[in-house]
Amino acid sequence: MEVCQCDGQQNAEAIVLTEDGMHITAFWSRLLCGCGRNGSFEPIFVMENIIPLFDSTFNYRIIDKDDWQWSVYERAFYNPTANEIIIRSDVYEGALNGNAIDVITIAHEVVHCIQSIIMRFLNAINCVEFKTELCKANSDEMAHHELQTDRITALVLFPEKFLQGKSEDEIVQKYFINPLIQFMCGLIKVSCKGLLEALDDMNCIKGKTA
Ligand SMILES: [Zn+2]
Repeated sequence: MEVCQCDGQQNAEAIVLTEDGMHITAFWSRLLCGCGRNGSFEPIFVMENIIPLFDSTFNYRIIDKDDWQWSVYERAFYNPTANEIIIRSDVYEGALNGNAIDVITIAHEVVHCIQSIIMRFLNAINCVEFKTELCKANSDEMAHHELQTDRITALVLFPEKFLQGKSEDEIVQKYFINPLIQFMCGLIKVSCKGLLEALDDMNCIKGKTA
């Protein structure tokens, strides 16, 4: 597991995805983040150019390794409270030069950020049910969240793992049609609830005035 203390993440809320949810997240992340890069997922490019398109509150900082105030085992981390990725300068430079460990380290932090965007998006539209958990440092929940982040990172970097053995029709069904249906059903459910509540309110008013 990636060493990722996610500083300042005391009691931060993290989304809990199902197995399918992880695959769909990885599929769409790869699809959207690969735009303009021949479909490849380049974490530094994604962090600097793609994430800011979806999330104007996101920020990242490269800290000189001589000024690094965190543990030597912590090479980069995502702080969900500040919505910020912090990277040690040698790790950033290593990733720019294609060092695999450094690329994976930054990809992992980018995936933390993508999960946070998904959680805020689902919260805002309030039409798809999903689970979250509170992650405290060194808790089981944090270990679970880190494991899930590692798995999505692996899927994003090596998408052949979850596309292998599937026909084009199966891919379209699983990654496009199924999530779209779930999203549409959620929207309809929320609209229906709203309509029923409005009708109920009207009946109350009628009941009082009658
Ligand atoms: Zn992490």
